[in-house]
Amino acid sequence: MSDVEAEPREARRGEEDAGEPPGGTPRVEVLAPRDVPLGGPRAMTVRRTLPQRSRTLIGAWCFADHYGPDDVSVTGGMDVAPHPHTGLQTVSWLFSGEIEHRDSLGSHAFVRPGELNLMTGGHGIAHTEVSTGRTTVLHGVQLWVALPEEHRGTARDFQHHVPEPVRTEGAEIRVFLGSLAGVTSPVPAFSPLLGAEIALRPHTSVTLAVDPGFEHGLLVDQGSVRLADTLLRPAELGYVHPGPGTLTLANESDDTARAVLLGGTPFEEEIVMWWNFIGRSHEDIVRARADWQNSSDRFGTVDGYPGERLPAPVLPHATLTPRRNPPRH
Ligand code: MN
Repeated sequence: MSDVEAEPREARRGEEDAGEPPGGTPRVEVLAPRDVPLGGPRAMTVRRTLPQRSRTLIGAWCFADHYGPDDVSVTGGMDVAPHPHTGLQTVSWLFSGEIEHRDSLGSHAFVRPGELNLMTGGHGIAHTEVSTGRTTVLHGVQLWVALPEEHRGTARDFQHHVPEPVRTEGAEIRVFLGSLAGVTSPVPAFSPLLGAEIALRPHTSVTLAVDPGFEHGLLVDQGSVRLADTLLRPAELGYVHPGPGTLTLANESDDTARAVLLGGTPFEEEIVMWWNFIGRSHEDIVRARADWQNSSDRFGTVDGYPGERLPAPVLPHATLTPRRNPPRH
């Protein structure tokens, strides 16, 4: 996906963090989504929970867009022309529908529900994302992972993985990155990371062992999910600081609930995010933008898209400043 929101608006600010009471229930901060139109000839709108004013990253997860279920006969579906990425990985995860992916590595893949598509931008990549004619309902998430300094110039890459679902009494879990519920994704990451889909049957709860060094975010897709003591509504993201060794999720409704659990060790580097680029400085972004506008080999070319590539937006007059998470109180 391509970020058209070059200057994110301020979102509802969460309460100031007071940490967890010692030995008590993890404290959950609720990050509310904001609607972001993706622009272009189609009218698709996504719900964005990362980044926002009160939180830039959860582990290395730095971007979370949630969309659908959209009737593509109404919205037109997804159609993102060739555009670049640098310094990050993109994770496409669907609940419904199908997206055709092509990139400048030569990859040609179909993103389907329950299948991880992980694209590494590294030094530079370009790609297209188009929902297919077989798609009637499009529903999923698009997530970005910031690459740590030592790997942000890595070679472009593309990985596809279909996790075997883990079924417990109350839940069905698909671990696409990292380890949870006794399984580990074979897909390598550049920093300690967790990504998993969790479906909860009606009137059930599940307690999951998690890495206490990780911070976590639970993005609710459908239904309402109680995370520790906090009820999260659809499209909300519940944030938990590092510390707890378990997380308890409960579905108190009559219908199946579904969420995506993200986690990772806190990402301590400051990053500069602008459009589809992540760098460490204003100059990094200026260089990446110029390289894209000049059709540099840095990003390569994408075959098979019937249209022009996306031009980069105009840079703001002000110097882009690094972002990091607010300090923990
Ligand atoms: Mn993209």
